[in-house]
Amino acid sequence: MECVKDRLVAYFSMEIALENSMPSYSGGLGVLAGDTIRAAADLRLPMVAVSLLYRKGYFSQHLAEDGTQTEEPVEWRVEDFLHEESPRVTIPLEDRRVELRCWRYDAVGVRGYVVPIYFLDADLPSNALADRALTGTLYGGDPYYRLCQEVILGIGGVRMLRALGHEGLTRYHMNEGHAALLSLELLETEAAKAGRTTIRAEDIEKVRCKCVFTTHTPVPAGHDRFPMEYLTRAFPSQTELFDLKDASAADLVKRVLQAEQAYPDLQQAARAGASLNMTYLALSLSKYVNGVAKQHGETSRQMFPGVPIEAITNGVHAGTWTAPAFREIFDRYIPTWREDNYSLRGALGLPPEEIWTAHLIAKHELLELVRQKTGIKFDPGKFTIGFARRATGYKRADLILADLDRLRQIAKNSGPFQIVYAGKAHPHDAGGKSIIKHIFQAKKALRKAVPVVFLDDYNMDLGGKITAGVDLWLNTPQFPLEASGTSGMKAALNGVPSLSILDGWWSEGHIEGVTGWSIGEARRATPDLVTDNRADAESLYNKLDSVIIPMFYNERYRYLSVMQHAIAINGSFFNTQRMVQQYITDAYMR
Ligand SMILES: *Cc1c(COP(=O)(O)O)cnc(C)c1O
Repeated sequence: MECVKDRLVAYFSMEIALENSMPSYSGGLGVLAGDTIRAAADLRLPMVAVSLLYRKGYFSQHLAEDGTQTEEPVEWRVEDFLHEESPRVTIPLEDRRVELRCWRYDAVGVRGYVVPIYFLDADLPSNALADRALTGTLYGGDPYYRLCQEVILGIGGVRMLRALGHEGLTRYHMNEGHAALLSLELLETEAAKAGRTTIRAEDIEKVRCKCVFTTHTPVPAGHDRFPMEYLTRAFPSQTELFDLKDASAADLVKRVLQAEQAYPDLQQAARAGASLNMTYLALSLSKYVNGVAKQHGETSRQMFPGVPIEAITNGVHAGTWTAPAFREIFDRYIPTWREDNYSLRGALGLPPEEIWTAHLIAKHELLELVRQKTGIKFDPGKFTIGFARRATGYKRADLILADLDRLRQIAKNSGPFQIVYAGKAHPHDAGGKSIIKHIFQAKKALRKAVPVVFLDDYNMDLGGKITAGVDLWLNTPQFPLEASGTSGMKAALNGVPSLSILDGWWSEGHIEGVTGWSIGEARRATPDLVTDNRADAESLYNKLDSVIIPMFYNERYRYLSVMQHAIAINGSFFNTQRMVQQYITDAYMR
């Protein structure tokens, strides 16, 4: 019997990655959400989660000979993964009512505790054709389509949780600003509870106490923003959206942003602009706000002066991202590691030869996948570098390819190496797409001197295999734009050290020569900061040439020691178990 019956925390996310063949996510945000929920289940945290159902999924990626990316929708059978729940709720949209149902997925923790995830679905015969398509594609459509999706997530989500009987929720956690409209529904609920049809300052204060907001985006342009008239279009003032007599939705948002207790800078911005900034709304209505790494907290505080923004560094779900060969050793030597990720600190005491054997198994699995996908046989004895993440400008996937002659030289001097790439570009991200093409050009030019493969259709399964199966995890974001980054954490759990710019989580996880290596030095985000791609590439080449590759080939015992420290120091800490525990003490219990 469960002693705590009521669910206390509702976690809202536009995307949640649960299974490889469920196309319910596009990348890092969704993977983090899935890992958070799995850790909550492990910890028996009374949480429920809400997202949208994307019948067309996030796309599958096809790459032509020259690296040109095309996208295809992923058809999937919802019923194979999810269970339909009976309640229906409606939300008003323009002059219509949109009916919603939801589908349930159970995340089961290590001790059998279940955290349900509800996927909202508008594809019902009672809805107009256009409305049925609102839960069709993730990050598809135009901005107004996006706003409608956010109405469904925020307002539909709160209503659905109530219809499902989750009456005792005390915290609403918005994973990024997409769910910010949930605060409007909560405001209306507070007013209704007090028997009023007008919002008062005390309602705003009550809602603030319930809301937790995690921001993920270190650049202003990355924050969701809509013209205010979109909100008026979605909710013409005459509808009974909030049963509020005194305000249209747009007025309500303005009042929240300009309430007495609101932040002066946001007030000013709200007065100046005619746009609905989801981040402002979430910041204004959340008592607890955090960035996703210490550096990102700092960047966010600079971006939103006056707003108290804390930091909880991201993690990954250890049980999910540890390769089978490593699970087997951990189960044998550190049997509590799944319930107690901290015990992975004991990895320092593992026999190094067993770590090496497990690593070779993971490497073999990756190289087998490389062969299947590309027909190319990579040499398992060769030093292998991995790079996989969303293809987009600031991630600079092609930084290592800046000087091909230098790469050839390093391979000759220090020892041979090969590179495994993967990553999707967002369908509208022309810059990201051209980076993939650039990698294909370099691959052709390098030929056998430095073999390069690009694996198509990056997904969770591929992510797991690449992070575990390479000898070095490379990350080259443009500082300070990597909010956290999590794939290096997956690598660490599998004993794979990182070589990375000191940004995001790596500013905390890096100990030079102990857990991995840095590219360049630690920096500060000052207004006069300039990015010097050349200098970053130069530092990268130097580390490979003079430190890492020689150590790999000539001092294997030292390389193995770095591998063990990656697990013991970083795997034991940069996991979602530690992260969710911090959310409990800092955000949910406060
Ligand atoms: C882990 C993962 C990500 C996030 O990686 P970052 O290092 O945070 O960019 C994105 N997509 C997939 C499929 C992943 O497995």
